[in-house]
Amino acid sequence: MNYFGISTTSAMAPRNSIAEFQELVRSSNRMMALCGAGLSAASGLPTFRGAGGLWRNHEPTDLATPEAFAADPSLVWLFYAWRRHMALKAKPNRGHFALAELAKRKENFICLTQNVDGLSPRAGHPESKLYLLHGSILDNKCFNQCGYIDRNNLSDPICPALAPAAEDYPPDQTLPLLDPNIPAPQIQVEDLPHCPRCKTGLLRPGVVWFNEPLDENMIMQVENWIWQGPVDLMIVVGTAAAVYPAAAYTRKAQRRGAIVAVINPDPDSASGLGPKDFFFQGDAAEILPLLFEPVIGKMDESGKICVEP
Ligand SMILES: [Zn+2]
Repeated sequence: MNYFGISTTSAMAPRNSIAEFQELVRSSNRMMALCGAGLSAASGLPTFRGAGGLWRNHEPTDLATPEAFAADPSLVWLFYAWRRHMALKAKPNRGHFALAELAKRKENFICLTQNVDGLSPRAGHPESKLYLLHGSILDNKCFNQCGYIDRNNLSDPICPALAPAAEDYPPDQTLPLLDPNIPAPQIQVEDLPHCPRCKTGLLRPGVVWFNEPLDENMIMQVENWIWQGPVDLMIVVGTAAAVYPAAAYTRKAQRRGAIVAVINPDPDSASGLGPKDFFFQGDAAEILPLLFEPVIGKMDESGKICVEP
């Protein structure tokens, strides 16, 4: 506290008034969002981030590379077939639905997501306004890069040989696939999904792996959108505003005049925000429907709009 009884730290801290944010979102024209794993946390999906979680004694990051796939495609496919199964069993939460509603009602709102779980598309988020920066676990593409891509494949398991990754077990028991003491199912490479176009390549998950670039065309579209005019509001959901790629997009939006709002349970995710910005500490599934209410209306527990604005 200083001489005037005003806390000097809070004078520089970001705002947290829901009413002020609601007025901002209502009056904003050009808005963008960037979403990370925290958006899907309320849907119960494991993120592997920061927890040091292993998958069958493997670091998940060691399995998410083109080199790992080339060396052992069956093991990498078992990992992804299990993650597909988890993603398909999960349901979009109110955070996904709130962003999808905002996109339907605000013409100039684009949403970038790092999540590959397919939950935003399944929440009905308009495809033309959603940028899947890291691809989708429900897409399959040719490992030989012939250009073939199979989008939104909902088959589970994706092929008979990968059925051990798509079994449901009671919560008190471990899926045999996840027990490193049980040998992994031996799957012949010829039994993995193959490319129907070139007939030589294996299909691989349509996600961006470590050591791989993001889709150039998608990045260009986002860059073009950012430079088309001033940006009123940048919303960062479930990821830290100061970490790449959120940091890069946040800086670009700020250069176009944007106020930044961070929604995250972790207070460290708000570092770098100024007094004009917003920070809402908590779960996006609870906070986003409330923050967007003047534009999208009242949302019930299932994610449906029950009272129009
Ligand atoms: Zn091919």
